[in-house]
Amino acid sequence: MKAEIIAVGTELLLGDILNTNAQFLSKELAALGVEVYHQTVIGDNEDRLLDAFKEAFKRCDMVITSGGLGPTQDDITKEIAAKFLGKELTLNEEALKDIENYFNITGRKMSESNKKQAYFPKEDIILKNNNGTAPGAIMKGKNGEIIIVLPGPPREIIPMFKEGVVPFLKTITDSTLYSKVIRLFGIGESSMAEEIKDILESRNNPTVAPYAKEMDVTLRITAKAKDEEEARDIIKPVENKIKERLGEYIYGEGEDTLEEVVARKLLQKRLTIAVAESCTGGMIASKLVNYPGVSEVFMEGVVTYSNKSKVENLGVKVETLEKYGAVSEETAREMAEGIVKKAGVDIGISSTGIAGPDGGTEEKPVGLVYIGICIRGKSMVKKLNIPGNRERVRARTTMEALNWVRLELNKL
Ligand code: AMP
Ligand code: MG
Repeated sequence: MKAEIIAVGTELLLGDILNTNAQFLSKELAALGVEVYHQTVIGDNEDRLLDAFKEAFKRCDMVITSGGLGPTQDDITKEIAAKFLGKELTLNEEALKDIENYFNITGRKMSESNKKQAYFPKEDIILKNNNGTAPGAIMKGKNGEIIIVLPGPPREIIPMFKEGVVPFLKTITDSTLYSKVIRLFGIGESSMAEEIKDILESRNNPTVAPYAKEMDVTLRITAKAKDEEEARDIIKPVENKIKERLGEYIYGEGEDTLEEVVARKLLQKRLTIAVAESCTGGMIASKLVNYPGVSEVFMEGVVTYSNKSKVENLGVKVETLEKYGAVSEETAREMAEGIVKKAGVDIGISSTGIAGPDGGTEEKPVGLVYIGICIRGKSMVKKLNIPGNRERVRARTTMEALNWVRLELNKL
């Protein structure tokens, strides 16, 4: 089944709003195994919309529209869809009641123009709108064409699609697309692509697509199958191959986050942790407490921003600070050891660095960061040079620290 999306609205063409409905619909249709090869954006114009329908149906069997179902004269999507299919619109009493009801519930007065929203072809399926006034519809043409008209506001189209359109589409498609996402940290998109070049190039079932985000990279493995179980079977061997090659970088799958994975591992191994932060200013602690239940293993987080605080709270030696500076391997090490002692935990992490934009020198430039980790008496320090602005240096340091804990936990 091939479908196209037509987003209707002059405001989209003017760049006033982003066409998020097309993104939403494309994603949902892909998951249902419906192929989408074209998306169109058309202003609120009768002739051009009619043309868009004509063009689309030269290529596909189904068109889904968003927008243009409002009560005003420029809302014409439903009318043009009906015209294209050669259908007449008549007042639908049930749809009218629903609209009246919506106005009653929201305490607003219905105007005469809203009546227009209750006109539909007699024989077609009307989609209820629980979040607005405009019902949608699934219209079928004489030659098997299907036009599904949906409202523009995301808070209306999303539930209507999920509640009304998905069940309908499931009855007419025989395959589904199922994806699994693998999340990686510590490898760039291009090195990752190099490692699995052959897999990425294979256009067979399943397909694998890389996606780089600000802080990590993901691989989406997508299989086409008759159901989810069969899709999982198709995905498994490819997933295993990827794990063989990139295993050390893979921290999770689906919606996993790095902090969640670390927290789960700590709980599993019953190991306690505390953090002493300078340049991250509490970000590592804040990430860890995202995970409900982490209180069993996360004991303490201190932000020791000044030298004085590093000495008083963590026992960092004054000589160390004088000789090597606050941003140094030695200080990071003493901070990590200090927090372990202070909090009486199995694992201590520390961060110290120059987040910028000022304060860098030739010897210690902005982005220079040391992360310390002290784990069961053994302490190690990692030196990083992180490009980017202050926010990025801090966020990246946080992720690097969490990832390092993850890797060390894997060794235990
Ligand atoms: P309409 O149904 O065309 O009157 O659209 C009503 C409102 O829905 C617009 O003012 C936008 O805020 C929103 N909207 C319409 N089309 C889209 C779209 N393609 N993507 C996201 N929002 C949209
Ligand atoms: Mg509009």
